[in-house]
Amino acid sequence: MEHLLFVFTPLTTRITYYEWVWVVLLTLINLKNNYYFNKMTTHNNIQIIMNNQTLMRNKIAELRQQIDNIETLLEQSEFKLWRKCKHEWKRDYSCMTDDPIKYYCIHCKLWNDPRRYDG
Ligand SMILES: [Zn+2]
Repeated sequence: MEHLLFVFTPLTTRITYYEWVWVVLLTLINLKNNYYFNKMTTHNNIQIIMNNQTLMRNKIAELRQQIDNIETLLEQSEFKLWRKCKHEWKRDYSCMTDDPIKYYCIHCKLWNDPRRYDG
């Protein structure tokens, strides 16, 4: 900050050789400090980005686990439906001729595929 004093001195003021040396030195020190400050800030930014990446990866893992849990619950509810419902099968005409399962239950909407629900 001290070198700013020189900047604000009137232009008409004569500056001695030593004062100029002082201005140059202070400017160089300031540039060097700015360089290290910027380097440090960049390093901190990289660390912040990496920390955020870790948080996001952890969140994805957590959400994947939740999806797995919900899929398991859904599967279990299909097993229950399969056992409890008195199915009435109806042909689904949107199925292709080579689809292995073409019938669904008009009550519970499950496919007539015992292998899928024997868990
Ligand atoms: Zn049914």
